[in-house]
Amino acid sequence: MIIMKPGATEEQICNVVRGIENCGLRADVSRGEYLTVIGPVGDESKLQFDRLAVLDGVKEATMVEIPYKLISREYTKLFTSAHQHNVIKVGNVEIGGEEIVFIAGPCAVESRDQLYRIAEGVKKAGAHILRGGVFKPRSSVHSFQGLGAIGKNEAEESLGWLSEAGKEYGLPVITEIRGESQVDLVAKYVDILQIGARNMYDQDLLVRAAQKGKPIFLKRHFGASIEELLSFSEYIAAEGNKNIILCERGIVPVGKGKSFTRYMLDLAAVPVMQKESYLPVFVDPSHATGRRDLIYSMSCSAAAAGANGLMIETHYNPAEALVDGKQMVTPDELKVIIDACKKINHVVADGHDENS
Ligand code: PEP
Ligand code: MN
Repeated sequence: MIIMKPGATEEQICNVVRGIENCGLRADVSRGEYLTVIGPVGDESKLQFDRLAVLDGVKEATMVEIPYKLISREYTKLFTSAHQHNVIKVGNVEIGGEEIVFIAGPCAVESRDQLYRIAEGVKKAGAHILRGGVFKPRSSVHSFQGLGAIGKNEAEESLGWLSEAGKEYGLPVITEIRGESQVDLVAKYVDILQIGARNMYDQDLLVRAAQKGKPIFLKRHFGASIEELLSFSEYIAAEGNKNIILCERGIVPVGKGKSFTRYMLDLAAVPVMQKESYLPVFVDPSHATGRRDLIYSMSCSAAAAGANGLMIETHYNPAEALVDGKQMVTPDELKVIIDACKKINHVVADGHDENS
């Protein structure tokens, strides 16, 4: 990490960048209000920090050992405060700002009519962003694979419905990309690219998606540590795309007996990741619990933990959903959840400065 002196000139900054590039690395330049910080991307053992330290305009040049330095508080503490996140603007929505943000919609897009009805419902309930899976990750090849399934030829049409429904109801849209071959197509239609839990470790996918320059919603793998989630999000940041939203969606439960939930929701991950990184952190209580009757309490808990937003699967008639009906709430239930979480978010924000 190279910290430039306040008022360092553009030429001095370029000179440091050249010094890094000459050693075969790339340079990530972050410009704060007063300071510029330069992070080498690549094998740092090839750099001689003492040489960089004596270049004109350089205040300090030190090696940062953490694997997720570009998204770390450490790297950016010079220009962000402890509760400030990287605010990501998507349409009129601010993610990581003061207000808690809600992504809602069906697990899977099933038809144009289904999607429009749900979009209208979640908009009325107060949601900000519309979700809907087209390329579904499924454990069984015999279950409904989503309209993006190979051989169906409905992927592009259903992505078009997402985009149109979003415009109709004033909601930016998000959908999952499951593989590299889907990146170009999906990026044409949606505002935020979701990389699901199962693909969190796919570094080629992360890089290709990052290069689209759109915000990336990265979900934690159910067997991943927090450090791994942060380290893999660094692949996105290293492409110069810092518009990353992290999502806790439950990890594998422990012990032998019944756990009663689909996964185990790790809510401590929320403040931990917010302290380690300046990226906004979301919670998905739907996949974490797999149970409609727990969505209200876990959403309120996530808001109390300080989450920047929630992703909640919603359907006007969960019983008829082809996927994940058991964990879906109705738009009416969503409204109650959103109203409660907004109040909790304000209470938590009021106490921040005194308590952490
Ligand atoms: C989803 O959000 O549609 C999904 C499949 O979630 P996850 O990747 O967390 O399992
Ligand atoms: Mn689902």
